[in-house]
Amino acid sequence: MGLSRSGGTVRFADGRKIELPCCRPPATKGAAGLRLKRNDGCLASKPSGTRRGGHARCQRQFCTGRQQAAPHRAGRRKPGSSQLRSERPFHPGIPWYFLSSLILIIAIIAAGCSGERPDKGGNFDGESAMRYVQAQMQFGARIPGSLGAQRAGDWIIAEMNSRADTVIVQSWTHTTADGKQLPMRNILARFRPADASRILYVTHWDTRPVSDNSSNLGERQMPVPGANDGGSGVALFMALADALKKAPPPSGVDLLFVDGEDYGSFGPPMVDVLIGSTWFASHLPEPGYKPIFGVLWDMIGDRDLKIKKELYSIQGAPEVVDRVWRVAAELGHDDVFVDEQYGYGITDDHVPLLQAGLRVIDVIDIDYPNHHRPTDTIDKISARSLSIVGEVAEALLR
Ligand SMILES: [Zn+2]
Repeated sequence: MGLSRSGGTVRFADGRKIELPCCRPPATKGAAGLRLKRNDGCLASKPSGTRRGGHARCQRQFCTGRQQAAPHRAGRRKPGSSQLRSERPFHPGIPWYFLSSLILIIAIIAAGCSGERPDKGGNFDGESAMRYVQAQMQFGARIPGSLGAQRAGDWIIAEMNSRADTVIVQSWTHTTADGKQLPMRNILARFRPADASRILYVTHWDTRPVSDNSSNLGERQMPVPGANDGGSGVALFMALADALKKAPPPSGVDLLFVDGEDYGSFGPPMVDVLIGSTWFASHLPEPGYKPIFGVLWDMIGDRDLKIKKELYSIQGAPEVVDRVWRVAAELGHDDVFVDEQYGYGITDDHVPLLQAGLRVIDVIDIDYPNHHRPTDTIDKISARSLSIVGEVAEALLR
């Protein structure tokens, strides 16, 4: 993706700029702020925070109060009739068999509630997500047209076929500005495909052929390994699909892996980037396809994760931004999903989707020091970060 400011002119980390006709002028003061370099030294000072998600999630559940009540009561007495008889003096007007039945009923309710817990979320496994990043790294760079891309795409399709209800592959050939023919694949993994009420998640699975953010001239021609930029989003979806297979969502879910996000130049002029999302926007899976909301997840694995609200998302689908940040805060992750704005727009896969009328926002930590550099390797990301984002992503679907 590239960085930009609104009002038509789009600028990127290397100082280049292009015109982006889709974007309205910034609505907020300071929105025209321009970010030329992201490696500004603030990353080292980010607070690590305390993870409170499990507890918060528990509180969101209807059954929690009863779950807590039952063990408390049971824990006061050892099972057995003598223990039950010993309660009689404290409840002179209530027969012991009534108390016995009451305790039994509470225990049954508590057991029922425990059984519901997996269906309410919390199945996402950050360690599994890390293994899915590792699996992608073994393919090498996933540059469109490369053997690595062919293998990685085949792997995503096979893995999704074993988890989702339906998998649709959009295949086409993209002709680049310099006449190269690139094989492209978008992969759409669908859960509950018959449901009209749907949520769309998007991530790109390709990696960038050049490390053009590197200050080292020699490094600039090297491919980006893409542990975070490409790898983290795919890993998120893979682990999310595990969770959805285990406990199906209450409504339809579409996991869209788009190709060719990062292939070409973000400009000016912008050419051969956002290829898959642009294709999807004009080749929707069915006529009138209109998810309730959508989220693009990009570069969400940084060890030092801090996600701010992105400008085009705030302008294009503010209610979705509110929803995502509210759920994150309810889960206790407001130290990661911070209540701040980048102050500039980010040219990413949500832009063509917003232009097509789909309410999709971008969840991205753009302040990643290894962005478009050969140092975007697996040691820069963590299971904890993937787990936090995964927890939020799953909760939004429940
Ligand atoms: Zn990128």
